[in-house]
Order: sequence, then structure tokens, then C-alpha cells
Amino acid sequence: MSSKKDFVKEITNMDTDFAQWYTDIVRKADLADYSPVKGFMVVKPYGFAIWENIQAYLDNKFKESGHKNLYFPLLIPEHLLNKEKEHVEGFAPEVAWVTHGGKKKLEERLCVRPTSETIICSMYSKWLKSYRDLPYLYNQWCSVVRWEKETRPFLRTSEFLWQEGHTLHATEEEALEETLRILEIYREAIENFLAIPVLSGLKSENEKFAGAEATYTVEAMMRDGKALQSGTSHHLGTHFTEAFNIEYLDSDGELKNPHHTSWGVSTRLIGALIMSHGDNRGLVLPPRVAPTQIIIIPVRPEKEGVIDEARKLYDEIKAAGFRVEIDDDMSTTVGRKFNEYEMKGYPLRIEIGPKDIEKGAVMCARRDNHEKMSLGRDEVVSKLEGILDDIQQSIFNKALERRNEKTFVADDYEKFKKDISEQTGFYKASWCGKLECELKIKEDVSATIRCFGDEEISDTCLVCGEKTKHMVYLAKAY
Ligand SMILES: [Zn+2]
Repeated sequence: MSSKKDFVKEITNMDTDFAQWYTDIVRKADLADYSPVKGFMVVKPYGFAIWENIQAYLDNKFKESGHKNLYFPLLIPEHLLNKEKEHVEGFAPEVAWVTHGGKKKLEERLCVRPTSETIICSMYSKWLKSYRDLPYLYNQWCSVVRWEKETRPFLRTSEFLWQEGHTLHATEEEALEETLRILEIYREAIENFLAIPVLSGLKSENEKFAGAEATYTVEAMMRDGKALQSGTSHHLGTHFTEAFNIEYLDSDGELKNPHHTSWGVSTRLIGALIMSHGDNRGLVLPPRVAPTQIIIIPVRPEKEGVIDEARKLYDEIKAAGFRVEIDDDMSTTVGRKFNEYEMKGYPLRIEIGPKDIEKGAVMCARRDNHEKMSLGRDEVVSKLEGILDDIQQSIFNKALERRNEKTFVADDYEKFKKDISEQTGFYKASWCGKLECELKIKEDVSATIRCFGDEEISDTCLVCGEKTKHMVYLAKAY
């Protein structure tokens, strides 16, 4: 028992200090570490395995919907970045520059991509000739650099891993369809694969991507009631295709600018997993994304036959297609092992000891609700799929209940200011659409418009009282 206490003490209680709790989990679950370069993180093998699973799931969805992967260079010449005015203004403050090649000063500075619209458009303008070439449905998996002042592992780091899709279409309608198709892929993946409920919708003009016609977002609520923007899909119109002279010869013999989209999710999703499902014992991973779904721990492994029986069970579970590990290390106590796998969020633990073997049973323990159950040795493999599905669903339901509990209506501005300072969460409100009202909320309570919704809250703006039909979600955000 004492080892358990000691271990739990190593992470801060989430109710005492949520930010410290988060950092403790990143370190203790061995997901990432700080690097020698300030603001840059090292993703460790366990964290990277989670990312690889997210990547594989999404990559498959992109390919199923007709997209192909390609790869563009890391560096972008300055003149390309400057071509789209809003875009360069949006990104300039956080761009890292390469000024020298070896000892020689470069004639033109090169920026380390903060996102790749500009370099991709410069190439698309060379490649695209005819309406027959459209649509262009391309995606790249890479890293980008945005020089951040304050950083936190996975949530905001100066370099992060992501995917960026960049597509071209003949009509605005098709481009908008693509923007929403991708938004739906993100929503489905985050809800069904990562078990995190999200709101999906349009961003306000002020919150949209630099150079976009419209930005759509998926927004998740973390356990502390703050919002995390978890993915964005941009309808870029012809802003970039005009600036970069991307033209095609249409079937009517006319030269036209195609309509453009871009979209991305990043390693931020790992931060979302931690803060949506984690508890005071550590990380809680939904079985679908967990690198290891089941850990087998032999109890009293020194007893004859225990290790053999545990390994036999391991072989059976592995053969049935589950991601399973066995920890038969004799130098660590069973209690310490329990704590370690709880910290790392393994969804299901199976204990097998001399007494279980005698009874023809095994003991299972769920990470999500700490429930324990004894299963017959003969039935265990056949029951695993059902148990893991139930864990996946329970984790989602718990997150959804929490979000519902922390979603409120705001229809009185003075009351809203008091409420949100006492209770973080999503606040549904009516908004007139004016920037000044949006900025006033931000200044008064540091909350932003996360996205538009479609409920009827009130027929007047929360801030100015003007008649309006728009409904928005307000929240403090990461
Ligand atoms: Zn207003």
C-alpha cells in the first residue's frame, strides 16, 4: 500500500492545480520531455505511439475520401509569404527565419513554415492547367514552427506535428462541401476514436484563419471547463489562388481561379486526451486510441505455473487481434506495476495468480471506473471486445455529462461576467455580430467566441441588446 501512496503523491491533485496536474501527467506517463531549445518538446515513444494511432486513423479517413499525401519543403522564401496580405500579417509575429546557409548570408531570407499555404500555392500555380485536373485533393504530414512566448507540451509548442490538407476545386460550392466534409471527419474521429465530445461550427470573423473566407472548428471542453480548439477547416475562397495566379482553363474556354481549402489537426489532440479523460491517478486512454489496450500482470509470479499461464493468456489475446502487453518483470512489485499502468492509462488490466488459476478464472480491472470483475479463464478472450467497447463508450459518456453540466445560458451580461469568473464552461449566448461586442467580452472576462451554434437563446445581443438571431458559444480557451 505504501508504494501506491508514494506514487500517487507524485502528481498534483487536479482540483488543487489543474495546470500542474497536466504537466505532471505529461512527465509521469512518459509522453514528452522538454528539449534543450526553449519552447520545443521531445515526444517520447509512448506519446508518439498515441500520435501514430491518431495519424493512422485520420490518414485512412482522408484516403477513403479521395485524398493523397505529398510533401513540401520546410523553408519558404520571404517573397512567397508576403503575397497574401492578411496571411502574412497574421503569421509574421511568430515566424522563425533562416538567414544563413553555412557561413554565407542568403540573398533572400527563408521562413520556417508556420503553415504551408504559400509554398503549396506557388507550386499549384505551376501544375494546374485544365478543369480536367480538378479537384486537387492533397494532404501532408509534417511539423510547423510558430515562435510562441509561452509554451506547454502538446497544447502550445514552438514546433508541433500536424497534417495540413490543401485542396483546389472548380466551384465555390465544391470547396465549401470539402471544408464541411473534413470538419465532419474531424468530429467523427475526435468523438468516436478519442471519445471526446465536440461542438463543430463556424468561427467568427475575428477568430478565423488569416486569409480565410470562413473557418470552421471543432471545440472540445476540458475537465476544467476551458475550451480547446481541436481542429480547423478553412474555406479560403480565391484569396490565395488569385494572389498566386493559380488558373485553369475551364470547359467554356475561360481562365479561372479555382476555389481553395486547407485544414489541419495536430499533436494538440494528445493534450485534449489528457485533459478530457485523465484523473488523479494519471492518464485515462480510450481503448481505440490506446497503444496498449490490455496489460497482463502475473500475481505472485514466483509460484510455479503462474508465468506460464499468464504467457499463454497473452498469446491467446494477441492472436485474437488486441494490443496487449505482459509485465512479468520479477524485480518490481505488483503494486508498483498497478500504479505505473494506471498512470499510463492502459484501459484494462488482467491479473492472474495462483488462486485465479486454481479457480479457472482471471481478475480484470478497468482503468476508467476502477471496477473489478472476475472472468472465467475460458470466456475471457471472447468477452474482451465487449468490455473494451463498453470502456470506450463510458469514457465518452462521462466527458459528455461533464460538458453538459458545465454548459450554461448567458442572457444577462452582468450576471454572465460574475458567472464565468466563478465557473468556467461553455456559455450559450446571442450575439449581434459586431466586433466591438466580441472584443468587450474578451476584455471583460477573457472569454472568446468558440463557434456559432443554432439554438435560440434570446433575440437580443448579450452585450449591446441589439436585435439578433445569431447564437454563439463563449468560453475561456487554451
Ligand atoms: Zn452586440
